[in-house]
Amino acid sequence: MNVYWEMTQACGLACRHCRAEAMPQPHPRELSHEESMAFLRQIPEFGQPLPQLILTGGDPLRRPDLYELIDEAGRLGISTSITPAATSMLSREVFAKLKEHGVEGIGLSLDGSTADRHDSIRGVPGTYDRTLQAMRWAGELELPLQINTLVSAETAPDLPAVFELLKQFRIARWSLFFLISVGRGKVLQPLPAAKAEELMDWVYELSKDAPFIVATTEAPSYRRIAIQHMKSEGLTGEDIRRSPSARGFGIRDGNGIVFVSSTGDICPAGFLPQVTGNVRTDRLVEVYRSAPLFKQLHDPSTFHGNCGACEYHTLCGGSRARAYEATGDALATDPLCDYEPRHSPSKEHAA
Ligand code: SF4
Repeated sequence: MNVYWEMTQACGLACRHCRAEAMPQPHPRELSHEESMAFLRQIPEFGQPLPQLILTGGDPLRRPDLYELIDEAGRLGISTSITPAATSMLSREVFAKLKEHGVEGIGLSLDGSTADRHDSIRGVPGTYDRTLQAMRWAGELELPLQINTLVSAETAPDLPAVFELLKQFRIARWSLFFLISVGRGKVLQPLPAAKAEELMDWVYELSKDAPFIVATTEAPSYRRIAIQHMKSEGLTGEDIRRSPSARGFGIRDGNGIVFVSSTGDICPAGFLPQVTGNVRTDRLVEVYRSAPLFKQLHDPSTFHGNCGACEYHTLCGGSRARAYEATGDALATDPLCDYEPRHSPSKEHAA
């Protein structure tokens, strides 16, 4: 279970695909310090094992009470990781302090193999150099590091070069985030389904020998592709279940993931802006377990179209955020996947 908390919308960058449409100043209704502490104290209501807390933004470093909030999460026994923006606020001292306060992982974004490519997406020159410097610091301080890379029509051709670059660093995980056109992301082009499938075939082959875990975000159909490859290589169902690649299968927007915005709104994911409550007035765990939308998202048999009929829908289930962005229906088919399920609605219609 992962709880993503957008601590603030404030950020010094102006990324072209920003979900949060981050701005220089915090939202006027941002959760106060007391409200933030009260929200953190709700998280243990999920029970054991406690959810993992991922601090996002905006730029979490813009919260003046960041370390107090991290300490409170630690006191509650919650494991915390953070995704800071690569601005001049990020320094080796900041990383050392985050580690000292018990942060267990850092996430950084790297969207291009060169300064030109990365900075053109991030909107601020110098961000590429800062990111690489931050990657070195994380390695020196032995802070587990996840690198997030945007996958869009613009960035896809550069991904092999990004992979070669990452091999020079101490990385725990490389997560390929398949663009969802919300917020400022609307200016970039998503990959068509056929191209995404080709890319995922490449990711699967790459993952076999990569010196770090290679995973996807908002592209759960990668799980179906990985399973198809593993089956064709002769692996049994039990082998697949035990494989490190199978970690996280079944988790998707609203199922194993919940998002809390800077103003306390509860959504199934950061990229699925369907507000189902607010931590100021609702219990997060109750919304997650009982709100009608969350209940539907937990149960893939409620999905429509191919994702509803698909034999992989328990492990995959498609990106609910992309389905919502494309159709306004969070239960619709994920348009990134053109797999025809064995009992696809279109086949049955034709029959
Ligand atoms: S049809 Fe939906 S559930 Fe099936 S593999 Fe594609 S995205 Fe996943």
